Amino acid sequence: MAALLELKNVTKVYTRGVLSRASTTALNDVSLTLAENEPTIVTVAGESGSGKTTLAMLLLGFIAPSAGQILYQGQDISRLGGAARMAFRREVQAVFQDPFAVFNPFYTVDHLLTVPIKKFKLATSAKQARERMEEALTAVGLRPEDILGRFPHQLSGGQRQRINVARALVLKPKLLVADEPVSMVDASLRANILETLRGLQKNHGVSIIYITHDLTTAFHIAKSIIVLYRGSVMEAGDVDAVIKHPQHPYTRLLIDSIPWPDLNRRWGETEIKAKEMEQSAQGSGCKFLSRCPFAMNQCVTPAPLFRMSEHQAASCYLYEQYPQVHSDQLTELLPV
Ligand code: SF4
Repeated sequence: MAALLELKNVTKVYTRGVLSRASTTALNDVSLTLAENEPTIVTVAGESGSGKTTLAMLLLGFIAPSAGQILYQGQDISRLGGAARMAFRREVQAVFQDPFAVFNPFYTVDHLLTVPIKKFKLATSAKQARERMEEALTAVGLRPEDILGRFPHQLSGGQRQRINVARALVLKPKLLVADEPVSMVDASLRANILETLRGLQKNHGVSIIYITHDLTTAFHIAKSIIVLYRGSVMEAGDVDAVIKHPQHPYTRLLIDSIPWPDLNRRWGETEIKAKEMEQSAQGSGCKFLSRCPFAMNQCVTPAPLFRMSEHQAASCYLYEQYPQVHSDQLTELLPV
């Protein structure tokens, strides 16, 4: 059976300026496979500029890779046409950061949910459309009778973001690309929405690519994680192993900047230090070279992934005693 989604050595390069042709590699040689019969949640984590949003745009087919291929059920998404293209558009859905962006203040929630149903001709009657809306709202933990008929200003931020998820869900997607879905929601509601997303994977068989800069939420939602830095995979594997025992110096820096409850540590202290250290590293070596306290001569050449356990590998010469993993084998590191 063909995989649900497959990234094959995907690279995205942005070029600026007609004369200078300056270019930035936003994503470098990423391969990843999501199985159709094993719905899973994979976190893609990194700071801004890590390439995680570029990855989301590529997965959704909004932009094309500069090299490599993205296959949906065995077909290159750039060549999908007719019914196959409609199926991809319906089955791969996005949930974005801003729960306000999709709402038009003049329309009720019903309108927002009816538009995709009509567009993809998913109901033959108003009754069937209503049932589909109610089903989606219930799946995200909302009571349809509390929500339908309401205007956006009558809803809380948490309700809006869940409606956003429900809007994707009316289409019965197979894959959700959730780009920072809880970053604009109150902390008290985050766990709730993350739990809703987990429920979609467990009870509705939806795979989720969860994109975030926030490793604490990654820990709560996903089984596996890919840590990106400046477009390259720094570390990948089981979320528990990577967050509790980070190996790559960059992952360690990210974990150190999480404000775990500690009265002796000032919030943002490590982050500020990291920002001060940041320089734009030129050249072709390890992307983390300019920030790395362990840098050595060989780091002028990018490190491959070294696998220190079944479900953990880091792209760093500190671990060169371990077997190398080719970038094509990234998926093998990720538990389902
Ligand atoms: Fe640091 Fe070198 Fe490892 Fe890169 S490869 S993270 S520069 S030690």
